[in-house]
Amino acid sequence: MIDLHTHSSVSDGTETPAQLVRAAVAAGLGTIAITDHDSTAGWQGACVAAAGTGLTVIPGMELSTRHGWRSVHLLAYLFNPLDGGIIAETGRIRDARLTRAESIVQRISADYDLEWGDVLAQTTEGATVGRPHIADALVAKGHVANRSAAFESILHPRNGYFEPHYAPDPLEAVRLVVAAGGVPVLAHPATRGRDNVIPENKIALLVEAGLFGLEIHHRDNTESGKERLFELAREFDLAITGSSDYHGEGKPNRLGENSTEPDVLERIIDAGTGTTPFRS
Ligand code: AMP
Ligand code: FE
Ligand code: FE
Ligand code: ZN
Repeated sequence: MIDLHTHSSVSDGTETPAQLVRAAVAAGLGTIAITDHDSTAGWQGACVAAAGTGLTVIPGMELSTRHGWRSVHLLAYLFNPLDGGIIAETGRIRDARLTRAESIVQRISADYDLEWGDVLAQTTEGATVGRPHIADALVAKGHVANRSAAFESILHPRNGYFEPHYAPDPLEAVRLVVAAGGVPVLAHPATRGRDNVIPENKIALLVEAGLFGLEIHHRDNTESGKERLFELAREFDLAITGSSDYHGEGKPNRLGENSTEPDVLERIIDAGTGTTPFRS
């Protein structure tokens, strides 16, 4: 089983990279990609923990991008983590996320007992901060029952506390990943159904820039959206991946609930030139 989308406490997963790796071994997976939001800080811990277990770790990341008002996630595999463009852009996104989270908390604090320190208490040093950490603080304060309840209420954009953060355009992000020797795959591109899949002309531009694949087998893609994605994959000769988007206890998603075919993994490994898979 090959699961190419997992998160650790380096971003908004609830397990450290080492715990994530142990969970993957316990679940009987053969390969995982560690794909924290906008950070490569979990790579080393994951590889150290994987040593001797037989698990293969694909170094990766889920890069935040924005197309107009819409947040678009781009999975990136096997890029050079010391590439200047990657370091500068991920640093810029993480800084913007921090300022934005503080601003969201400030607005929430007008109506709820919540302070920035409550959110910091839910993050590990240097982690990519996001709404999940604010959600955890709201849970700890007893305002909501769990992360999902927080996202459906206080953190939902319709409720006035939300604000977006800086993120590059998807096209710029694909170029950045390719320039760093990486392999870009659009994450869960059909979470809002067939009619909301990124338009064909935009996909064509991403493919021209080096987009490698589409994450079609993901629980958040709708059935009608998946049909459209299969059409696009055929039309543009894109690889099809499947993965869990595991966040530990932060989401119901379970390791290995979707899987990527071995030949697709081999093609990703062949295409990635920025770093190598960690084979234990
Ligand atoms: P942000 O990037 O800070 O706007 O937060 C979005 C992140 O929150 C995504 O990466 C998801 O992993 C996570 N997320 C979104 N909805 C939920 C939910 N209902 N429960 C838990 N986590 C969620
Ligand atoms: Fe997340
Ligand atoms: Fe995502
Ligand atoms: Zn994710």
